[in-house]
Amino acid sequence: MQRYPLNVASPLDQKLGGVLGARTAATFAKGFGIETVGDLLTHYPRRYARRGELTELSHLPLDDDVTIVAEVIDVRERPMRAKKGSLLEARITDGKGILTLTFFNQPWRAKDLRPGVRGIFAGKVGEYRGSRQLAHPDYELFEEDNPGGAESAEAWAMKPIPIYPATSTVSSWKVQKAVGVALDSLGELDDPVPDAVRKSRGLLPFTRAIELIHRPTVDAEWRAARKSLRFQEAFVLQTALLEQRQRLKEQAATPRIPKPDGLLEQFDAALDFTLTADQREVGEAIANDIATPEPMNRLLQGEVGSGKTVVALRAMLAVADTGGQSALLAPTEVLAGQHIRSIVSTLGPDLAARVRPTLITGQLPTADRRKALLAAVTGQAQIVIGTHALMSESVEFFDLGLVVVDEQHRFGVDQREALRRKGAVPPHVLVLTATPIPRTVAMTVFGDLDISTIAELPAGRIPIETFVVPLADRPGWEGRVWERLSEELEKGRQAFVVCPAIDAESDAAPAEPDGPVRPLTTVADTLDMLRADERLAGRRIEALHGRLTSDEKDARMRAFAAGEIDVLVATTVIEVGVDVPNASAMIVLDADRFGVSQLHQLRGRVGRGDVPGLCLLVTAAETGTPARERVEAVAATLDGFELAQKDLELRQEGDVLGSVQSGRRSSLRLLRVVKDGDLILQARSIAEQVLAQDPSLVRHPALRDALERRLDEAERDFLAKS
Ligand code: ADP
Ligand code: MG
Repeated sequence: MQRYPLNVASPLDQKLGGVLGARTAATFAKGFGIETVGDLLTHYPRRYARRGELTELSHLPLDDDVTIVAEVIDVRERPMRAKKGSLLEARITDGKGILTLTFFNQPWRAKDLRPGVRGIFAGKVGEYRGSRQLAHPDYELFEEDNPGGAESAEAWAMKPIPIYPATSTVSSWKVQKAVGVALDSLGELDDPVPDAVRKSRGLLPFTRAIELIHRPTVDAEWRAARKSLRFQEAFVLQTALLEQRQRLKEQAATPRIPKPDGLLEQFDAALDFTLTADQREVGEAIANDIATPEPMNRLLQGEVGSGKTVVALRAMLAVADTGGQSALLAPTEVLAGQHIRSIVSTLGPDLAARVRPTLITGQLPTADRRKALLAAVTGQAQIVIGTHALMSESVEFFDLGLVVVDEQHRFGVDQREALRRKGAVPPHVLVLTATPIPRTVAMTVFGDLDISTIAELPAGRIPIETFVVPLADRPGWEGRVWERLSEELEKGRQAFVVCPAIDAESDAAPAEPDGPVRPLTTVADTLDMLRADERLAGRRIEALHGRLTSDEKDARMRAFAAGEIDVLVATTVIEVGVDVPNASAMIVLDADRFGVSQLHQLRGRVGRGDVPGLCLLVTAAETGTPARERVEAVAATLDGFELAQKDLELRQEGDVLGSVQSGRRSSLRLLRVVKDGDLILQARSIAEQVLAQDPSLVRHPALRDALERRLDEAERDFLAKS
């Protein structure tokens, strides 16, 4: 991407050390990754407290770092029993509950902590002999704030106090002080939001908004400031994404137009089903994209089994018709292996011999690998399928025309970029994802891509039936689960049993924030149990998990696909893309340990052929708990988009943007993709207008600086991680 010279040095780009001194600057760099004045000023308060309102103490979670407003009740000092020295204990209250502060060998604190004094206290909540305490908390008392009574008592009590994200070494008020120093020396900031836009939306100018989000005197001020800065964030982000997209389009790709009577036509003629309307429509959009010198950059989303792979394969054949090559990037060896088998069989022997689908993974024996690399570099292999090994330097192409990335959420933007660079000219890029993505998320995370959706499933699919098996209410139902499993096997079908952990030592399970801690159901135990179950006598039951070698995994998947294994007891390694039409039952144990989208993905593994699918979600979570609600939500609908929205609401924002927007500093600050969908849409359309009138932003220097600042942050973040 082209880089702009920074216009005039903005006060925001000033290094923090110049303002706060090197030592303080270092603590901010270490604690938060904050390096510049701009970083510090966008370290916004998380919430606002009031001196007149005490924080409720009864809900403080154990082991959390908290920042609270409270009043001192009393202080006492006593010698330590076992060791030398003294212990000072102060009790603070919210008027109801009590929290004890403890300090070792700091008797002088009794002078500060006088009964009736209020202040902010920060520390980690601990427990000692059944009562809650903060050991060695940091605190700031209020009294000196209002020495001469300059403010009315009412205003003093109601004035919002910003509470900042803090660490154990940098407390909220240290941040507040640093921000104050930075604000005092700040001067005027150029506003990235054009005047007219700001006025029409009733937003504050940038300088004013920054001041008021940090130093409000009444609540209305920080609210107005947040609103203004939130819009600015959405606007700058959308401008950045649209600009990047524009830049990609300015590069010249090779147009790929299928030959009459060529490979694609031959494939279409031999296809033993008719494409759905959605497949045809998306296929046309792709064909149009790749027929031009503007590189395609498209995301194709569609439920598992909706026929994305066929659509992608047709695009590859169009490229092959022009003599070019396509690379298909799969997230795992199992999937890469499955892709090549299914592509070879879908193509049929004649076409396969002509386009020579070739596998490149890290596990390939040296001789095979050499052959595969040769086929890629000479252009004989027109379809190259592989894992991230495809991105290694030794892999070269003769004429890479199309990159297909399967199951995008496992790959970062960087990897997409690395593969893109394998082409002598930029290849067209198609990203496939089976995770339905709500529109505003797609726009935020994949804002540089065009988006297509396959919504309809191929005709003749029988919907999967999903049931929750609630062990908390019906402990006896567990036996029914295995009976049901044996019935499916009676019918000649196969089944998956998914567990959250491999064995007692493994921690494959996602951390569970709610609910009691229970040992996780493991693959090892479940395997033993099922093998010992008389109802399943004679059945072939095997394990599949991430600790097997790729060869073992591949062999087991293959055996399962060939019907040589009846039941696969697995972790989520089978999550994505696995296609075994005869598999009819998906049994998920400790289903509450999985996320909504993950459960939906797992369910998608069955009911792929013409047999009805059955999904049993076994959970010990109690009715009404969030864990149980997640599981019920999945059982209630087969609509992936609805579930994706639900998932979004249940998850932390950070998880949603995940690796794509990763890093402490470059993630979203005020914008919430769940709540701010409309704002994001509006910001995008305004960004489009601005870029249409002023593509290189010569008339919008402050906006240009803001884009540059984003890039800079992303880069620093990248360096910090590498
Ligand atoms: P996805 O990649 O979206 O999970 P696939 O392309 O792997 O889906 O398709 C799943 C299965 O459905 C494959 O066996 C494929 O051959 C078949 N299929 C795809 N499109 C159709 C269609 N229009 N009609 C019938 N079967 C189809
Ligand atoms: Mg697929």
